[in-house]
Amino acid sequence: MKIDKADRVKKLPPYLFKEIDRVKAEVIERGVDVIDLGVGDPDLPTPDHIIESLKEAVDDPSTHRYPSYSGMNDFKEAVSRWYLKRFGVELDPTTEVVTLIGSKEGIAHLPLAFINDGDISLVASPCYPVYHTATMFAGGSSFFLPLKKENRFLPVLDDIPEEIANKAKLLFINYPNNPTAAVADQEFFSKVIEFANAYNVIVCHDAAYTELAYDGYRPISFLEVPGAKEVGIEFHSLSKTYNMTGWRLGFAVGNSEVISGLGQIKSNIDSGAFNAIQMAGITALDSSQECVKRNCEIYKERRDVLVEGLQKIGLGIEKPLATFYVWCEVPQGYTSARFASLLLKEAGIVVTPGNGFGEPGEGYIRMALTVDKSRLEEAVSRMEKLSF
Ligand SMILES: *Cc1c(COP(=O)(O)O)cnc(C)c1O
Repeated sequence: MKIDKADRVKKLPPYLFKEIDRVKAEVIERGVDVIDLGVGDPDLPTPDHIIESLKEAVDDPSTHRYPSYSGMNDFKEAVSRWYLKRFGVELDPTTEVVTLIGSKEGIAHLPLAFINDGDISLVASPCYPVYHTATMFAGGSSFFLPLKKENRFLPVLDDIPEEIANKAKLLFINYPNNPTAAVADQEFFSKVIEFANAYNVIVCHDAAYTELAYDGYRPISFLEVPGAKEVGIEFHSLSKTYNMTGWRLGFAVGNSEVISGLGQIKSNIDSGAFNAIQMAGITALDSSQECVKRNCEIYKERRDVLVEGLQKIGLGIEKPLATFYVWCEVPQGYTSARFASLLLKEAGIVVTPGNGFGEPGEGYIRMALTVDKSRLEEAVSRMEKLSF
């Protein structure tokens, strides 16, 4: 029998990290103590009070049954309380909140609700790859908006050709940003809302990193900006905020029609997030946010070690205000891939080549602050010995 994969699978971009993975295996084989700054997955554990809450919830048999498709009411109410307290944004828990099995799940399903064959998603790039693969799975295509240093890694909406803007159905943005660690202000979001209204484009703001910020900076929610709820939704996740990547819990909030469209797709594909995990999520959102603050203090210390180290070596970068990523320009004469390969082969340091997040990321590498301070000190001291 001949097994023939669907075009949408055949159209998936080649796996850009294959070469890095191959060299990494080789370097480990050689006995090198590899420092992996490649993955954006917190190394710190989920806080104890959240784990305790899950244990209790699991013992309650009522959590063992099918959850409600759109999420537990209690969880959606906790999300609304958290949004009000954190951002001053009011949300109707029944129509403006949907529970997700991690925000990736919601991002991946959203285009199925709004993209028809040939429709366009506007995707700020470099980016989390799910925005454009999900668009492609739904039969659409992506028009990439390059994020450039000279524009503080914000897309320039005026540069979008008129005929593309007219055809566009969705706009994906993400601030604080992965991979560039850039942040957005109210003024930028206001322009986004104006654009969305002018061209009838649904805004999807991925807000996975709003809680990881430093030096007194507090990222805003897209929904705080007047008019936002008329044009879009925001994706949120407990993964990065509470070190819960493995638990799979997130949510989308905002425009009720967009939320209901996403809910219709979800109710035909999955059956919601495990109730016990949603109950632990309530604990996370309702309890003191002291654990998040402590996390940020740890990442800030790591950020300072790495960035100050890189600056000393002569790599011109600034300290990011948010996220646990450092987005670093490669030295003159290198491509992202060649510099990443040098760091791996000569210093045993894994970083992600910037072009892996989209072509506009060429010329950069991304380093994740998900290893402890002493390992970052070691990484810097290894880099000091390289010549580039
Ligand atoms: C980690 C990440 C996500 C996914 O988070 P989950 O809730 O764990 O699915 C979404 N967007 C960005 C930009 C991320 O970095």
